[in-house]
Amino acid sequence: MDADVINQLARIVGEEHVLTSIEDRVCYSYDATNQQYRPDVVVFPDGAGEISSVLKLANEKRFPVVPRGAGSGFTGGSLPVRGGAALVLTRMNRILEIDENNLVAVVEPGVVTADFQNKVEKMGLFYPPDPASLAYSTLGGNVAECAGGPRATKYGVTRDYVLGLEVVLPTGGVVRTGSRTVKSVVGYDLTRLMVGSEGTLGVITRIVLRLIPLPEARKTLIGIFPLMGQAAQAVSATIRSRIIPSTMEFLDNAAIRSVEDYLHLGLPVEAGALLLIEVDGKTETLDREAGQIESICMDCGAERVEVARDDAHAQDLWKMRRSVSASILKLGNMKINEDVTVPRSRVPDLIQGVTELARKYRLNIVNFGHAGDGNIHVNIMVDRKDTDAIARAHKAVDEIFGLVLKLEGTISGEHGIGITKAPYMSWETGTEGMDVMRRIKQALDPLNILNPGKMFDRTTTAVHHESG
Ligand SMILES: Cc1cc2nc3c(=O)[nH]c(=O)nc-3n(C[C@H](O)[C@H](O)[C@H](O)COP(=O)(O)OP(=O)(O)OC[C@H]3O[C@@H](n4cnc5c(N)ncnc54)[C@H](O)[C@@H]3O)c2cc1C
Repeated sequence: MDADVINQLARIVGEEHVLTSIEDRVCYSYDATNQQYRPDVVVFPDGAGEISSVLKLANEKRFPVVPRGAGSGFTGGSLPVRGGAALVLTRMNRILEIDENNLVAVVEPGVVTADFQNKVEKMGLFYPPDPASLAYSTLGGNVAECAGGPRATKYGVTRDYVLGLEVVLPTGGVVRTGSRTVKSVVGYDLTRLMVGSEGTLGVITRIVLRLIPLPEARKTLIGIFPLMGQAAQAVSATIRSRIIPSTMEFLDNAAIRSVEDYLHLGLPVEAGALLLIEVDGKTETLDREAGQIESICMDCGAERVEVARDDAHAQDLWKMRRSVSASILKLGNMKINEDVTVPRSRVPDLIQGVTELARKYRLNIVNFGHAGDGNIHVNIMVDRKDTDAIARAHKAVDEIFGLVLKLEGTISGEHGIGITKAPYMSWETGTEGMDVMRRIKQALDPLNILNPGKMFDRTTTAVHHESG
């Protein structure tokens, strides 16, 4: 990128908010995929006006601009695969308003998810979307990826809480979408179009979020099952009984063994699967619901069900769940992680299919995740140097995606497409669907300035998500 452009960027955002050294650029060259693409310059704007000017300059001088929050994405969305400017939104981290009369909050995109949740919870309010990365991910990144999390089982995902947005379009115009009302049907639903658009259609500069009352109490249970299939049946049976727990997380045997090896909590390492279930709501209904879930688990073949004694015990159980990702790295230094999702009643079919594929391709596959909403994290663990195993793993992924689509599921429940899933996107959308999306992108971004090389570009990379 020539010096004149960098000088112009410095004039827009201030010299101290532009980084050009190799060391600084390396820091903004990766995300959770472990792949690296270095930006030519890193820019930290403050406000829609500055971002608009950056994008107008980019259209004039023809350089890519790639929005970035915390860089915790799992599919390469924030990677500058064609160079250009990394547009880091972390300076814009103000909670602008919490309106208790209308249960609405207005925030900037760089606010860290957990900071926002903690702030509203102190006021007796609740913002449910809880990606496991919430301690560092940003609300802008959550909106751009439509992040989910364990609580999606009962409360849905980020899109269910976004009422309106301020967005800087790729050519520099600024639009406000939606409103701060519960109802709003004026024109096309541009808010929904922008949510999950992975920084390809606009830069989100302000977010209007819906809040709900904080549940009065929570109860956490853990169910131990001899067989994986029994746990999967218990998930379906619970939902069928009209109880919607706030979370229903599961670990298969390999995941249980890995966490036990890592944390030494005394987990049942012989168990086929474990379900971590949480119910929330009014104190007086919780015991009844927990009792019903316990009976359902036992009827489905659980060896035992334990209710967390107190808050500290519940926290320990959650620590176990949050440590799975880190603990399974002992099984292989390369992890191919897919976040496939199927209708909840098809979880048993998916698990059985993945088990058969593990056998067929002689692979170590660890399954865990959000069974309550059908979102299973399928982790194929291989040795980075074992090219034969990597080739087998990629064949297995192709078959897993085929199976998921046959089960009427989706190839990504919450991590998005980015670069890692781009080769597969049309499998789900079909060519017509791809064509509509491509035309929307072209209409808003005729010069392909904003986050190029994502979603539609099958050639950028054909590797799956990998994190070491
Ligand atoms: C340990 C771990 C656990 C995770 N658990 C979950 C989980 O449970 N559920 C889940 O859904 N995800 C999870 N993720 C993935 C990731 O944290 C989420 O996708 C998160 O929403 C990304 O936020 P971020 O601020 O890091 O965004 P980035 O990674 O910086 O960016 C993600 C995408 O959003 C775009 N973007 C960022 N900010 C803006 C903006 N203001 N305007 C327009 N586009 C923007 C970027 O261009 C990119 O395409 C996890 C990641 C890790 C590392």
